[in-house]
Amino acid sequence: MDIWMPDAATSLYGIIGHPVGHSLSPLLHNRALRALGLNCVYLAFDVTDLEGALSGIKALGIKGLSVTIPHKQSIMRFLDEIDDVAKRIGAVNTVLNKDGRLIGTNTDWIGAVKALEEEAGRLDTKKVLVLGAGGSARAVVAGLAERGARVLIANRTLEKAKDLAEQFDARWYSFDELPDVEASIVVNTTSVGMAPDLERSLIPSDLLPKYAIIMDIVYSPLKTKLLRDAERAGCKTINGLRMLLYQAVAQFELWTGKPAPVKEMEHALREAMEPDK
Ligand code: NAP
Repeated sequence: MDIWMPDAATSLYGIIGHPVGHSLSPLLHNRALRALGLNCVYLAFDVTDLEGALSGIKALGIKGLSVTIPHKQSIMRFLDEIDDVAKRIGAVNTVLNKDGRLIGTNTDWIGAVKALEEEAGRLDTKKVLVLGAGGSARAVVAGLAERGARVLIANRTLEKAKDLAEQFDARWYSFDELPDVEASIVVNTTSVGMAPDLERSLIPSDLLPKYAIIMDIVYSPLKTKLLRDAERAGCKTINGLRMLLYQAVAQFELWTGKPAPVKEMEHALREAMEPDK
């Protein structure tokens, strides 16, 4: 069996965040790079000195970066260029090093939209309720607006729901108003469902039958309480790995200019998250 080894011509990509020890991105991207036989490698960098790290990235000629918590917003002031979509979302999750210029973009919205379109088809006729108004909600709402969906936003802090809704021509609600909100799709972008809120869901189970599709962008655990309740109520469900997969696919294609080996990447995720299957 041939074992691939980096050499003097190997291109380097990576993820910057803090912490990054549990990130699935190295697994996803290295599996994709190996599947296509590209002379590239992808590493995880635990970064607290963001400005220093970015000058190192330029100096070392690192070709592309994924950006995760806590740097998605703060990185924006250190980049040479930010594209319109990342400006609209207010966050960068992807950097391309183009001839020494660091260009920021955002692929989280593509991940969310593709994950939804797989189950729902076209979104321009759909009413979608987004739970949350944080960083990932901004990407999800931007993606839905781009596809022409009607967007409704509910958040614990109403002021944040209102600000986001006003930017994207959406409506906003408190969680108490959910019984009166009509939509066919719900997307949870809050951290409710993750530890320590493992046994909480923002949608009471008696309301679930009125929705056709429930997506949770939380992927640890894979089946949140919201998704377990939704399955029981007969809704179609989408877990957070689909968004994670498709945002990485979009990054890979931007960096390499080649179609990503989606099936390989999907297998890598499944092996990591569901080792018994
Ligand atoms: P964030 O910017 O901190 O926003 C957190 C959101 O959750 C806010 O809307 C916040 O409401 C809400 N929230 C937190 N605790 C709550 C509670 N106890 N009750 C009600 N609402 C609560 O975080 P983020 O970056 O958007 O990330 C949110 C989740 O998305 C994380 O679990 C992250 O792992 C996941 N994520 C997944 C993907 C993927 O590819 N699948 C990508 C990005 C993020 P307030 O505004 O009221 O504080």
